[in-house]
Amino acid sequence: MIVRMPTKAQAVRVAKLTGGVVVVDDQGRPTSKIALDDFEAHREVIESVSVLFPCYDDDGAKVPSGWVVTGASFEVEWPREPKHQSRILSHVGALRSAKNWAIARVKADLDAREQDPDRASAPWTLEALRKRWHQVKDEVTPWSAEHSKECCSSGVADPVWAFNSWSNSKCGRRKGRRVSVSRLESKRCSTNQVCFATGAVHLEPHRRYLTLPVIGTLRSKQHIRRVERHVANDNARILSMTLSERRGRLFVSVHYAEGAKVVCPTGHPPAKPDARAGVDLGLHVLATIADTDGSILEVPNPAPLRATLTERRGVVRRLSRRTPGSRGHQRAKAKRARLDGRTVCLCRESVHRLTRQLVDTYGEVVVADLDLAAIKRPMGRRALRRAVSDTGLGDSRPTLACKAERSRVRLALADHLSPSSRIHHGCDGVVAGPKLAKRLTCEVCHSGVDPDANAARNLRDRPDHANPGSVGATAPRAPKPLSGATDVSFGGRLTDHRTRRRTTNLGLAVVAEASTDARAREQRNPARGASA
Ligand SMILES: [Zn+2]
Repeated sequence: MIVRMPTKAQAVRVAKLTGGVVVVDDQGRPTSKIALDDFEAHREVIESVSVLFPCYDDDGAKVPSGWVVTGASFEVEWPREPKHQSRILSHVGALRSAKNWAIARVKADLDAREQDPDRASAPWTLEALRKRWHQVKDEVTPWSAEHSKECCSSGVADPVWAFNSWSNSKCGRRKGRRVSVSRLESKRCSTNQVCFATGAVHLEPHRRYLTLPVIGTLRSKQHIRRVERHVANDNARILSMTLSERRGRLFVSVHYAEGAKVVCPTGHPPAKPDARAGVDLGLHVLATIADTDGSILEVPNPAPLRATLTERRGVVRRLSRRTPGSRGHQRAKAKRARLDGRTVCLCRESVHRLTRQLVDTYGEVVVADLDLAAIKRPMGRRALRRAVSDTGLGDSRPTLACKAERSRVRLALADHLSPSSRIHHGCDGVVAGPKLAKRLTCEVCHSGVDPDANAARNLRDRPDHANPGSVGATAPRAPKPLSGATDVSFGGRLTDHRTRRRTTNLGLAVVAEASTDARAREQRNPARGASA
């Protein structure tokens, strides 16, 4: 078996301890891989060096090593003494200085190369930048000896990652939206976080305190038992801890690897393991859930931002009239931060409640994979776009995927182009009406249609063959009709001339989807299909 360690130095160490052989590349240079005869016999020794190692069998296929990397975030109290408070803030400042130095340096090099293409470029690898930083740090930050060395090393590491993303995006090696070049960070728009990967990073056995290098011990507002007990039992290893300041509050995120004993599913089995739920996420109501027994459940949208917007406007107006630095200014700023924090927490809570309810109840959940950027694009006014952000829809799918995996609930994602809200469930007619209307009309049976409930029912009854099964996978697109097949079968229902024209206007996806849905429904319920 081949084990790949995070660094070459660790590979050499593991090879010395286990008697394994370090694998060399084509040019004879040692790599971070070690070939071992009996992996399980040496597992403990390897894990004492690092738990972040993927394993490969002799054919090169990946074998699970038994450890899963995960995280937990805790809010901590600000230290009482002003000296300790300023130490936290100065760590954030030191990180920003290192980050800005690295960005300025890489940018200067890029500009110089633009002027003179023959000039040799300085690499922006982590090793090269770190080496250069150690040479100049006494000039750039003469006060850096007071801080943990971690704030400077993570300050240099962030721009490396950002410039690699920019370069990959420019060359087409990275998917998604175009990444722009990193800009210098100011105190106002800084991320305000420091990552500690080495040094005295640990959770205290008291289960209320966390210790960070140089900064010292911080008291958590929540119980840290859920991580500490695994660390104490040697079932988890802390990889890093990140201290961040958000909206005037202090958080510590613990990044750790869980051993095989912990990874077993912790969630309860769902109450209705055979039931399937179609979930339509929306703006009027947060979610409309269609159950297999025919019932429709609506989860209201708390819209926390809309609820506090009037109060927030007043606070922001007051803030703009205060003198910066005065006590009134600080009070107004704290009030605005409190309101924003409350909005974020309420939004997150509603998503957690919804996803918990789904995985505790249903054995299978079908949800549409929404493209939120595409939803917002045609919404002209900012107030409308804000309504989409206010629902926290972007968080629902990843949260649901994480919880479904733990509770062994099957999660299927319908493609975001599937017209679940535009096909009338039951008659397969096209539903017409304005986009955000609360009531639409079916063009075939002329009955009123609730768009949310209709979409949820369509998602619930998606054809089984379109179900991907695995969590996080996207359902395959419905097959396109053959080019010669202009008379696509709709189960004999769409005979109206006007409806046929509307269907064609909606595009091929609608036609194909409708025919696939209708066929699957007929297969499942032949009596209803024949009567229609
Ligand atoms: Zn209809």
